[in-house]
Amino acid sequence: MYIYSETGILVERVSYADLAQQYGKPVEVSENGLILIFRKGHDNPEIHLIMVHIDKLEWVATIDVRERITSYLKSQPADKSLKDFNMMKSFYKEQLKGLKNLREINMEFGLNDDAEILVRLRPREIKDRSKLARAIQESGSDAEEDSEFAEEQVAAKSVEDCSFFYFFPNQHIETCRAGCKVCFGCSAEGQRIENQLLPGQEEDDEDPQEFVYFDNEDDDVSDLQGQSMNQDYIFFWNKGKAWKLNTSTRKLDRLGIYVDEREKQTWIKQIRTGSNKHRVAIRISQTPVKDCVIIWDLVNDCEIVSYDVTKNAMFFQDRHGNQFLAENDYIINCRQTCRLKSYHLNVNEFE
Ligand SMILES: [Zn+2]
Repeated sequence: MYIYSETGILVERVSYADLAQQYGKPVEVSENGLILIFRKGHDNPEIHLIMVHIDKLEWVATIDVRERITSYLKSQPADKSLKDFNMMKSFYKEQLKGLKNLREINMEFGLNDDAEILVRLRPREIKDRSKLARAIQESGSDAEEDSEFAEEQVAAKSVEDCSFFYFFPNQHIETCRAGCKVCFGCSAEGQRIENQLLPGQEEDDEDPQEFVYFDNEDDDVSDLQGQSMNQDYIFFWNKGKAWKLNTSTRKLDRLGIYVDEREKQTWIKQIRTGSNKHRVAIRISQTPVKDCVIIWDLVNDCEIVSYDVTKNAMFFQDRHGNQFLAENDYIINCRQTCRLKSYHLNVNEFE
């Protein structure tokens, strides 16, 4: 891993062979690039939080996802109605098979700058079953088999639409930062800046608690296409609508954006979060070659500015959450709303 200063000077080359040996490979990185999740293999219930300092990588915590979810489901949380909770339990038992065989579970991870982790869990097997059904159909079949296929598809679809979103907060990352004497970012002052606090202002929201959000046929979120997470919210979207779930209050709200679902070429592709927790970039597909990126104000729930870009335009952000788009021979600075002529250089050519 190469660590550069903000002005682009190479500070350190870190070999993490020993970490890789013990904790596996990185599977997710936080928005500011300073926290990583490592995992050893698809059937391993453990994930590991690793912190990037300017001089080293440090192990912070090991979390057994299976054990945590199982014990969470054993005690009924106060905020859940019995009906919701029973529904969650039966999904866990019947569709996730008690997480006994993790090879059959599709796990996706999210990680924000506060080291809060989101795990999306859904059965993997369903997909293979529908693939199998499709293969049977393609190999030529009579009407009877066709209807069976359709039934299977509907059943597979309805379960496929359900997922567990397990959210759990900060695992000892504050202790790790407090113990660090090297990085400015780890210091109290550095943290105030990263959290966009004004002088004298205190972090006001309560520390979030662990919870499971169950996306099922009864909730508001439907035809889920994707999810992402920043320091305050988990975002869900389908082709036309988007939601934000507050991780402290667990209140689910629609975002003000709406794309007409009858429009065949226009849909929400992604909600890209960043280190600025008051803004997200919503990427909308517009034509087969063009996308539109809308910089969205989460506080006032409105558009700040939008850009028409090519399909392969790259989105990136700096560690303060300022957003940039790169395409053709320029970079768009979304904060200053200007274009900068840019050159694509290969670092190797200088060495
Ligand atoms: Zn540090």
